[in-house]
Amino acid sequence: MNIIVLWLLVTPLFFAFGWFAGRIDMKTVIKQAKSLPKRLFDSLDALIESKTGVASDNICDIIEQEPQLTELQLSLGKLYRSRGENDLAIKLHNKLLNSQYLFSNDQKDNVRLELAKDFQHAGLIDRAETLLLKLVNSELYSHKAQDLLLDIYQQDKNWKDAIETAKRLATSDYSYHTEVAQFNCELSQEALIKSDNDEAMKFINHALEINRKCVRANLLLGELYANTDDHENAIKTWQLIEKQNYLYLPMVVEKMFDSYVCLNKTKEGLTLIRGYATLYPKLNFSDFLYQKLITLESSDAALDYLRDTIRNQPTSKVAALIMDTYINRSELRAEIRPDAEVIKTILLKYNEKLSNFRCGRCNFKTKTFFWQCPACYEWESINPNNSEV
Ligand SMILES: [Zn+2]
Repeated sequence: MNIIVLWLLVTPLFFAFGWFAGRIDMKTVIKQAKSLPKRLFDSLDALIESKTGVASDNICDIIEQEPQLTELQLSLGKLYRSRGENDLAIKLHNKLLNSQYLFSNDQKDNVRLELAKDFQHAGLIDRAETLLLKLVNSELYSHKAQDLLLDIYQQDKNWKDAIETAKRLATSDYSYHTEVAQFNCELSQEALIKSDNDEAMKFINHALEINRKCVRANLLLGELYANTDDHENAIKTWQLIEKQNYLYLPMVVEKMFDSYVCLNKTKEGLTLIRGYATLYPKLNFSDFLYQKLITLESSDAALDYLRDTIRNQPTSKVAALIMDTYINRSELRAEIRPDAEVIKTILLKYNEKLSNFRCGRCNFKTKTFFWQCPACYEWESINPNNSEV
């Protein structure tokens, strides 16, 4: 009898405890459900208003309360990196790697990839490379890891590993031919600096095998021939650039002309380069041809050339060269000469200020020509003809 009374008393108590516990959990869940979106929206608002510091503080608070939100932690890591707070990103990703809420190897590989990016941004290239090499066999992140490794090898001028990585990354959609040829040209350039002509030739041949349109390879090959006084082959090689990409001809005309001079064929060289200028009136030969025409032919020949050129290239540089022609003429009236000098100086200053090489991909402007754009890291995207636009 006592046992039945006891059961009658205890059973409702169990139900009461269960109901009470349920109430507590539900309250917590409702509170979280209400508070979480609000804070996230606050973070989003802050991001929209470019208050990234406020956004990262808000997300950090959410994560402290909700450590199971691993995706949100990855987003916070990216936010830290974009703010240049690489140390915070590294700390966050290291902590996340040891989190009990990362259940699969794929999730851990994703965090390792982010950590490698942190190291790269912090300039800790060796640590980034070590981490990425471990991800090369990752099922999901192998391609991204090798892509990042390729960036690092280029940043580090480690061209041999860059070649191997680019070859592994190559697909039918993207061959990496331009990049691999350029990496070989970099190696060839290094060999040329060490006067190792055989090694330089080897890399030039590799570059042309993989990309027969590689202008830089023929430019280097021509230099290699000229360095060994084989000016006939130097000229023949540089002439091939016209068919590869004529835009690069202005980069080679001076070297080509010097080789013609070495062969005592100055006139032939000048005629060839004048022919290029006629055929490609938008290219920048004006400085070179003006100097040669005024020296080797006459002031009239230089002026005729400049008058033709300024129609296609109405630039302050060509205008300054025309002024220079007049200044050098003895018949220029003495009282006009100082004015002409002032005008020429102003035009040259204007040209110096406005004249830039420009990247066709990201529009980056530079006073110096680069084979790889320093801003977007694209190869062969900078037009070799500087302009005032
Ligand atoms: Zn660019």
